[in-house]
Amino acid sequence: MAGTDPALGRAMPADSGSIAVRLFPWYTRNGRHHLPWRHTDDDYALWLAEIMLQQTRVETALDYYRRFLEKFPAWKNLASASLDEVLALWSGLGYYARARNAHMASKLVITDWNGLFPDTLESAMLLPGVGRSTAAAVLASAYGQSQAILDANARRVLFRVHGLQGNPRAPAQEKTLWRLAEQETPNPAHDYNQAIQDLGALVCLSRRPKCTVCPLMGICRGSQGTAGKIFPQVSSGPEKQRRPKRYGIFLLVMDGKGKVFLERRPEQGVWGGLWCLPMIYEEAILPTPEDLAERADLIAQRFGAVLGAGEILSFRQHVFSHFILEFAILPAFLPAELQVSDHLSHGRLWALGEARDLGLPSPIRRILEGL
Ligand code: SF4
Repeated sequence: MAGTDPALGRAMPADSGSIAVRLFPWYTRNGRHHLPWRHTDDDYALWLAEIMLQQTRVETALDYYRRFLEKFPAWKNLASASLDEVLALWSGLGYYARARNAHMASKLVITDWNGLFPDTLESAMLLPGVGRSTAAAVLASAYGQSQAILDANARRVLFRVHGLQGNPRAPAQEKTLWRLAEQETPNPAHDYNQAIQDLGALVCLSRRPKCTVCPLMGICRGSQGTAGKIFPQVSSGPEKQRRPKRYGIFLLVMDGKGKVFLERRPEQGVWGGLWCLPMIYEEAILPTPEDLAERADLIAQRFGAVLGAGEILSFRQHVFSHFILEFAILPAFLPAELQVSDHLSHGRLWALGEARDLGLPSPIRRILEGL
Protein backbone atom coordinates (compact mmCIF):
# COMPACT_ATOMS: atom_id res chain seq x y z
CA MET A 1 0.00 0.00 0.00
CA ALA A 2 3.02 2.29 -0.01
CA GLY A 3 2.78 5.21 -2.39
CA THR A 4 1.86 8.83 -2.89
CA ASP A 5 -1.51 10.50 -2.74
CA PRO A 6 -1.93 11.62 -6.40
CA ALA A 7 -4.13 14.57 -5.46
CA LEU A 8 -1.76 16.16 -2.98
CA GLY A 9 1.55 14.50 -3.57
CA ARG A 10 1.48 13.39 0.05
CA ALA A 11 3.51 10.35 1.03
CA MET A 12 1.30 7.58 2.34
CA PRO A 13 2.41 5.52 5.32
CA ALA A 14 4.04 2.31 4.11
CA ASP A 15 1.49 -0.04 5.61
CA SER A 16 -1.70 1.97 5.22
CA GLY A 17 -4.90 -0.05 5.25
CA SER A 18 -7.55 0.37 2.56
CA ILE A 19 -9.40 2.99 4.62
CA ALA A 20 -6.30 5.10 5.29
CA VAL A 21 -5.38 5.35 1.61
CA ARG A 22 -8.76 6.90 0.81
CA LEU A 23 -9.04 8.90 3.99
CA PHE A 24 -5.82 10.93 3.94
CA PRO A 25 -6.56 13.16 0.91
CA TRP A 26 -10.01 13.88 2.30
CA TYR A 27 -8.57 14.63 5.74
CA THR A 28 -5.92 16.95 4.34
CA ARG A 29 -8.62 19.05 2.71
CA ASN A 30 -11.50 18.69 5.16
CA GLY A 31 -10.13 17.72 8.59
CA ARG A 32 -10.68 19.81 11.68
CA HIS A 33 -7.12 21.10 11.68
CA HIS A 34 -8.09 24.16 13.72
CA LEU A 35 -8.63 22.15 16.91
CA PRO A 36 -5.98 23.16 19.46
CA TRP A 37 -5.08 19.60 20.45
CA ARG A 38 -4.12 18.91 16.83
CA HIS A 39 -1.15 21.23 17.20
CA THR A 40 0.63 19.75 20.17
CA ASP A 41 2.52 16.62 21.10
CA ASP A 42 2.36 17.47 24.80
CA ASP A 43 1.18 14.34 26.61
CA TYR A 44 -0.72 16.32 29.26
CA ALA A 45 -2.59 18.54 26.78
CA LEU A 46 -3.47 15.53 24.61
CA TRP A 47 -4.66 13.47 27.58
CA LEU A 48 -6.78 16.38 28.82
CA ALA A 49 -8.44 16.75 25.42
CA GLU A 50 -9.22 13.03 25.28
CA ILE A 51 -10.77 13.08 28.77
CA MET A 52 -12.91 16.12 27.98
CA LEU A 53 -14.07 14.67 24.66
CA GLN A 54 -15.13 11.35 26.17
CA GLN A 55 -18.68 12.56 26.78
CA THR A 56 -18.72 16.11 25.48
CA ARG A 57 -19.11 17.60 22.02
CA VAL A 58 -16.05 19.27 20.54
CA GLU A 59 -17.73 22.70 20.39
CA THR A 60 -18.60 22.59 24.09
CA ALA A 61 -15.25 21.21 25.19
CA LEU A 62 -13.16 23.84 23.36
CA ASP A 63 -13.75 26.67 25.78
CA TYR A 64 -13.27 24.47 28.84
CA TYR A 65 -10.10 23.03 27.36
CA ARG A 66 -8.54 26.46 26.85
CA ARG A 67 -9.48 27.69 30.32
CA PHE A 68 -8.27 24.48 31.93
CA LEU A 69 -4.89 24.67 30.21
CA GLU A 70 -4.56 28.30 31.19
CA LYS A 71 -5.12 27.56 34.86
CA PHE A 72 -3.47 24.12 34.98
CA PRO A 73 -0.91 24.12 32.14
CA ALA A 74 0.90 20.92 33.20
CA TRP A 75 0.50 17.73 35.21
CA LYS A 76 2.08 19.28 38.29
CA ASN A 77 -0.35 22.22 38.34
CA LEU A 78 -3.37 19.96 38.17
CA ALA A 79 -1.92 17.54 40.72
CA SER A 80 -1.31 20.29 43.27
CA ALA A 81 -4.73 21.93 42.82
CA SER A 82 -7.55 21.20 45.25
CA LEU A 83 -10.47 19.10 44.06
CA ASP A 84 -12.72 22.13 44.57
CA GLU A 85 -10.61 24.20 42.16
CA VAL A 86 -10.78 21.44 39.57
CA LEU A 87 -14.52 20.92 39.96
CA ALA A 88 -15.13 24.67 39.79
CA LEU A 89 -13.41 24.83 36.41
CA TRP A 90 -15.20 21.68 35.20
CA SER A 91 -18.55 23.03 36.37
CA GLY A 92 -21.09 22.84 33.54
CA LEU A 93 -19.17 20.23 31.53
CA GLY A 94 -21.03 17.36 33.19
CA TYR A 95 -19.98 13.79 34.00
CA TYR A 96 -18.02 15.01 37.01
CA ALA A 97 -16.41 11.63 37.65
CA ARG A 98 -14.13 12.63 34.77
CA ALA A 99 -12.89 15.65 36.72
CA ARG A 100 -12.32 13.63 39.89
CA ASN A 101 -10.53 10.90 37.93
CA ALA A 102 -8.44 13.45 36.04
CA HIS A 103 -7.37 15.03 39.30
CA MET A 104 -6.44 11.64 40.72
CA ALA A 105 -4.66 10.60 37.50
CA SER A 106 -2.53 13.77 37.52
CA LYS A 107 -1.35 12.95 41.06
CA LEU A 108 -0.42 9.42 39.97
CA VAL A 109 1.48 10.70 36.93
CA ILE A 110 3.53 12.92 39.23
CA THR A 111 4.16 10.33 41.95
CA ASP A 112 4.46 7.12 39.91
CA TRP A 113 5.37 8.14 36.35
CA ASN A 114 7.91 10.87 36.73
CA GLY A 115 5.52 13.53 35.43
CA LEU A 116 4.87 11.88 32.06
CA PHE A 117 1.90 9.95 30.67
CA PRO A 118 2.82 6.22 30.96
CA ASP A 119 4.26 4.99 27.68
CA THR A 120 2.57 1.59 27.32
CA LEU A 121 -1.07 0.80 26.76
CA GLU A 122 -1.23 -1.44 29.81
CA SER A 123 0.28 1.08 32.21
CA ALA A 124 -1.69 4.02 30.79
CA MET A 125 -4.93 2.09 31.34
CA LEU A 126 -4.12 1.90 35.05
CA LEU A 127 -4.79 5.63 35.36
CA PRO A 128 -8.32 6.41 36.55
CA GLY A 129 -10.64 7.42 33.70
CA VAL A 130 -8.29 6.12 30.99
CA GLY A 131 -9.73 3.30 28.87
CA ARG A 132 -8.07 1.55 25.95
CA SER A 133 -9.13 4.03 23.25
CA THR A 134 -8.16 7.07 25.34
CA ALA A 135 -4.78 5.54 26.20
CA ALA A 136 -4.19 4.62 22.55
CA ALA A 137 -5.07 8.09 21.29
CA VAL A 138 -2.59 9.76 23.66
CA LEU A 139 0.19 7.25 22.94
CA ALA A 140 -0.25 7.67 19.18
CA SER A 141 -0.28 11.48 19.28
CA ALA A 142 2.22 12.17 22.05
CA TYR A 143 4.74 9.37 21.48
CA GLY A 144 4.17 8.48 17.83
CA GLN A 145 3.13 4.91 18.65
CA SER A 146 1.07 2.83 16.26
CA GLN A 147 -2.03 2.51 18.43
CA ALA A 148 -5.52 1.96 17.07
CA ILE A 149 -8.42 3.89 18.62
CA LEU A 150 -12.06 2.89 18.83
CA ASP A 151 -14.03 5.90 19.94
CA ALA A 152 -17.68 6.34 18.91
CA ASN A 153 -16.78 7.86 15.53
CA ALA A 154 -14.17 5.28 14.58
CA ARG A 155 -16.48 2.51 15.74
CA ARG A 156 -19.34 3.75 13.56
CA VAL A 157 -17.18 4.10 10.45
CA LEU A 158 -15.60 0.66 10.84
CA PHE A 159 -18.93 -0.98 11.57
CA ARG A 160 -20.43 0.42 8.39
CA VAL A 161 -17.45 0.06 6.08
CA HIS A 162 -17.13 -3.62 6.98
CA GLY A 163 -20.90 -4.18 6.82
CA LEU A 164 -21.14 -5.63 10.33
CA GLN A 165 -24.52 -6.57 11.70
CA GLY A 166 -26.01 -6.98 15.14
CA ASN A 167 -25.26 -5.18 18.34
CA PRO A 168 -22.00 -3.24 18.06
CA ARG A 169 -21.69 -3.21 21.86
CA ALA A 170 -21.83 -6.98 22.24
CA PRO A 171 -18.52 -8.38 23.56
CA ALA A 172 -17.97 -10.51 20.43
CA GLN A 173 -18.55 -7.47 18.20
CA GLU A 174 -16.21 -5.40 20.32
CA LYS A 175 -13.46 -7.91 19.68
CA THR A 176 -14.09 -7.81 15.94
CA LEU A 177 -14.08 -4.02 15.91
CA TRP A 178 -10.78 -3.80 17.76
CA ARG A 179 -9.28 -6.34 15.35
CA LEU A 180 -10.47 -4.29 12.37
CA ALA A 181 -9.25 -1.06 13.98
CA GLU A 182 -5.79 -2.55 14.45
CA GLN A 183 -5.80 -3.95 10.93
CA GLU A 184 -6.74 -0.61 9.35
CA THR A 185 -4.50 1.63 11.46
CA PRO A 186 -1.23 2.56 9.74
CA ASN A 187 2.09 3.28 11.40
CA PRO A 188 2.39 6.08 12.44
CA ALA A 189 -1.22 6.24 13.59
CA HIS A 190 -1.65 9.86 14.65
CA ASP A 191 -3.04 11.32 11.38
CA TYR A 192 -5.21 8.31 10.70
CA ASN A 193 -6.73 8.45 14.19
CA GLN A 194 -7.62 12.11 13.69
CA ALA A 195 -8.92 11.46 10.18
CA ILE A 196 -11.29 8.63 11.08
CA GLN A 197 -12.68 10.66 13.98
CA ASP A 198 -13.28 13.60 11.65
CA LEU A 199 -14.96 11.41 9.05
CA GLY A 200 -17.32 10.08 11.72
CA ALA A 201 -18.02 13.56 13.06
CA LEU A 202 -18.48 15.32 9.70
CA VAL A 203 -19.58 12.73 7.10
CA CYS A 204 -20.45 9.30 8.51
CA LEU A 205 -23.06 10.78 10.79
CA SER A 206 -25.04 8.61 13.09
CA ARG A 207 -28.49 9.38 11.67
CA ARG A 208 -27.90 10.52 8.10
CA PRO A 209 -24.46 9.58 6.80
CA LYS A 210 -23.42 11.70 3.81
CA CYS A 211 -22.36 8.76 1.67
CA THR A 212 -22.34 10.71 -1.61
CA VAL A 213 -19.44 12.89 -0.43
CA CYS A 214 -17.65 10.18 1.52
CA PRO A 215 -14.15 9.14 0.40
CA LEU A 216 -14.89 5.57 1.52
CA MET A 217 -18.00 5.08 -0.59
CA GLY A 218 -16.19 2.82 -3.07
CA ILE A 219 -15.25 0.31 -0.38
CA CYS A 220 -18.04 0.77 2.14
CA ARG A 221 -20.47 -2.12 2.53
CA GLY A 222 -22.84 0.12 4.45
CA SER A 223 -23.19 2.71 1.71
CA GLN A 224 -25.73 0.83 -0.39
CA GLY A 225 -28.63 2.90 0.87
CA THR A 226 -28.71 1.17 4.22
CA ALA A 227 -25.95 2.99 6.07
CA GLY A 228 -28.34 4.73 8.42
CA LYS A 229 -29.94 1.42 9.29
CA ILE A 230 -27.09 -0.94 9.93
CA PHE A 231 -25.76 1.03 12.84
CA PRO A 232 -28.11 1.78 15.72
CA GLN A 233 -29.51 5.27 15.49
CA VAL A 234 -28.52 7.82 18.05
CA SER A 235 -31.37 10.25 18.00
CA SER A 236 -31.59 13.15 20.39
CA GLY A 237 -35.31 13.86 19.87
CA PRO A 238 -37.10 10.58 20.56
CA GLU A 239 -34.47 9.59 23.12
CA LYS A 240 -35.11 12.72 25.10
CA GLN A 241 -38.82 11.97 25.11
CA ARG A 242 -38.20 8.49 26.46
CA ARG A 243 -36.12 9.74 29.36
CA PRO A 244 -37.99 9.33 32.61
CA LYS A 245 -38.85 12.41 34.59
CA ARG A 246 -37.93 12.99 38.19
CA TYR A 247 -39.04 15.82 40.42
CA GLY A 248 -36.80 17.55 42.91
CA ILE A 249 -37.00 20.31 45.49
CA PHE A 250 -33.88 22.22 46.48
CA LEU A 251 -33.80 24.20 49.66
CA LEU A 252 -32.36 27.69 49.37
CA VAL A 253 -31.32 28.44 52.93
CA MET A 254 -29.87 31.88 53.59
CA ASP A 255 -28.87 33.52 56.83
CA GLY A 256 -29.30 37.13 57.90
CA LYS A 257 -25.96 38.09 56.33
CA GLY A 258 -26.89 36.83 52.88
CA LYS A 259 -24.83 33.65 53.16
CA VAL A 260 -26.18 30.53 51.47
CA PHE A 261 -26.04 26.97 52.78
CA LEU A 262 -24.44 24.46 50.39
CA GLU A 263 -23.53 20.84 50.91
CA ARG A 264 -21.16 18.61 49.01
CA ARG A 265 -22.88 15.87 46.99
CA PRO A 266 -21.71 12.29 47.53
CA GLU A 267 -18.99 11.23 45.07
CA GLN A 268 -21.16 8.53 43.56
CA GLY A 269 -24.20 9.62 41.58
CA VAL A 270 -25.13 12.76 39.70
CA TRP A 271 -23.14 15.91 40.36
CA GLY A 272 -20.76 13.79 42.44
CA GLY A 273 -18.43 15.92 44.58
CA LEU A 274 -20.04 19.24 43.59
CA TRP A 275 -21.45 21.76 46.04
CA CYS A 276 -25.22 21.97 45.86
CA LEU A 277 -28.29 23.35 47.58
CA PRO A 278 -29.68 20.62 49.86
CA MET A 279 -32.09 18.44 47.91
CA ILE A 280 -35.04 17.70 50.14
CA TYR A 281 -37.20 15.79 47.70
CA GLU A 282 -36.38 13.61 44.69
CA GLU A 283 -39.06 11.26 43.38
CA ALA A 284 -40.70 10.17 40.15
CA ILE A 285 -43.92 11.98 41.12
CA LEU A 286 -44.66 15.56 42.00
CA PRO A 287 -44.58 16.38 45.72
CA THR A 288 -47.90 16.99 47.44
CA PRO A 289 -48.33 19.78 50.05
CA GLU A 290 -48.21 16.98 52.70
CA ASP A 291 -44.87 15.79 51.32
CA LEU A 292 -43.50 19.27 51.67
CA ALA A 293 -44.87 19.74 55.19
CA GLU A 294 -43.24 16.45 56.20
CA ARG A 295 -39.98 17.55 54.61
CA ALA A 296 -40.20 20.91 56.38
CA ASP A 297 -40.22 19.06 59.74
CA LEU A 298 -37.15 17.09 58.70
CA ILE A 299 -35.43 20.27 57.60
CA ALA A 300 -36.19 21.89 60.94
CA GLN A 301 -34.65 18.91 62.76
CA ARG A 302 -31.70 18.86 60.44
CA PHE A 303 -30.78 22.49 60.89
CA GLY A 304 -31.63 22.46 64.59
CA ALA A 305 -33.83 25.48 64.07
CA VAL A 306 -37.22 26.31 62.67
CA LEU A 307 -36.83 27.60 59.18
CA GLY A 308 -39.05 30.32 57.89
CA ALA A 309 -39.98 28.60 54.64
CA GLY A 310 -41.27 30.70 51.76
CA GLU A 311 -43.42 29.76 48.79
CA ILE A 312 -42.12 27.11 46.46
CA LEU A 313 -40.80 28.69 43.28
CA SER A 314 -41.89 27.47 39.84
CA PHE A 315 -40.45 24.27 38.36
CA ARG A 316 -37.48 24.37 35.99
CA GLN A 317 -35.93 21.60 33.97
CA HIS A 318 -32.46 20.09 33.73
CA VAL A 319 -31.78 17.32 31.22
CA PHE A 320 -29.39 14.56 32.25
CA SER A 321 -28.27 11.81 29.88
CA HIS A 322 -30.60 9.28 31.50
CA PHE A 323 -33.42 11.33 33.02
CA ILE A 324 -34.99 14.76 33.13
CA LEU A 325 -35.06 16.55 36.45
CA GLU A 326 -37.89 19.00 37.02
CA PHE A 327 -36.94 20.95 40.05
CA ALA A 328 -38.17 23.80 42.17
CA ILE A 329 -36.59 25.97 44.83
CA LEU A 330 -38.00 26.35 48.31
CA PRO A 331 -36.50 29.49 49.85
CA ALA A 332 -35.99 29.38 53.63
CA PHE A 333 -34.59 31.79 56.14
CA LEU A 334 -32.10 30.58 58.70
CA PRO A 335 -32.22 32.11 62.17
CA ALA A 336 -28.87 33.43 63.34
CA GLU A 337 -28.42 30.82 66.06
CA LEU A 338 -27.49 27.94 63.73
CA GLN A 339 -24.67 25.87 65.14
CA VAL A 340 -22.98 23.62 62.61
CA SER A 341 -23.28 20.17 64.08
CA ASP A 342 -22.18 16.72 63.00
CA HIS A 343 -25.11 16.12 60.74
CA LEU A 344 -24.25 19.31 58.85
CA SER A 345 -20.54 18.65 58.67
CA HIS A 346 -20.64 18.02 54.92
CA GLY A 347 -22.27 21.40 54.40
CA ARG A 348 -21.67 25.00 55.39
CA LEU A 349 -22.68 28.59 54.82
CA TRP A 350 -20.85 30.41 52.05
CA ALA A 351 -20.79 34.09 51.12
CA LEU A 352 -22.28 34.36 47.63
CA GLY A 353 -18.98 35.60 46.15
CA GLU A 354 -17.17 32.54 47.51
CA ALA A 355 -19.93 30.15 46.47
CA ARG A 356 -19.70 31.21 42.84
CA ASP A 357 -16.05 30.06 42.77
CA LEU A 358 -16.96 26.52 43.84
CA GLY A 359 -17.70 23.53 41.64
CA LEU A 360 -21.47 23.90 41.27
CA PRO A 361 -24.00 22.09 39.07
CA SER A 362 -24.95 24.51 36.27
CA PRO A 363 -28.62 24.95 37.33
CA ILE A 364 -27.51 25.74 40.89
CA ARG A 365 -24.92 28.19 39.57
CA ARG A 366 -27.65 29.95 37.60
CA ILE A 367 -29.82 30.23 40.71
CA LEU A 368 -26.99 31.69 42.79
CA GLU A 369 -26.04 34.10 40.03
CA GLY A 370 -29.62 35.34 40.06
CA LEU A 371 -29.55 36.19 43.80
S1 SF4 B 1 -20.00 5.55 2.63
FE1 SF4 B 1 -21.57 6.25 4.03
S2 SF4 B 1 -21.78 4.64 5.57
FE2 SF4 B 1 -19.87 4.29 4.49
S3 SF4 B 1 -18.32 5.30 5.73
FE3 SF4 B 1 -18.96 6.75 4.20
S4 SF4 B 1 -20.61 7.94 5.12
FE4 SF4 B 1 -20.28 6.10 6.36
